[in-house]
Amino acid sequence: MSDATFMGVSREKIDWAPTIDYSKCDFCMECDDFCPHKVFERREGEVKLVVANPKNCVVFCRACAKTCGPDALTFPSKPETIAAIKQIRAKEGEAE
Ligand code: SF4
Ligand code: SF4
Repeated sequence: MSDATFMGVSREKIDWAPTIDYSKCDFCMECDDFCPHKVFERREGEVKLVVANPKNCVVFCRACAKTCGPDALTFPSKPETIAAIKQIRAKEGEAE
């Protein structure tokens, strides 16, 4: 997915992905079962799920959060992410 772009900016440069709150997560794996984009990966040991591929997450998708009973998934702020994308775009425009 390295050549994917969103709003004219390389996906690689956009910080949008879920964060797992391990104080709430019960490792039910509903989020991983739901998401088709291989954002999560299962692990052996105490922490059984990690956000292994954050750049695979679809920008502004929050769908897996709805599958999470304990409300353990959080996302960045959408307005702040839009502002960051615009900033990157402006900077890249200057460089041209
Ligand atoms: S927000 Fe969407 S794309 Fe991202 S991990 Fe959740 S279901 Fe997958
Ligand atoms: S759905 Fe929520 S509680 Fe279940 S594994 Fe995912 S983050 Fe953890």
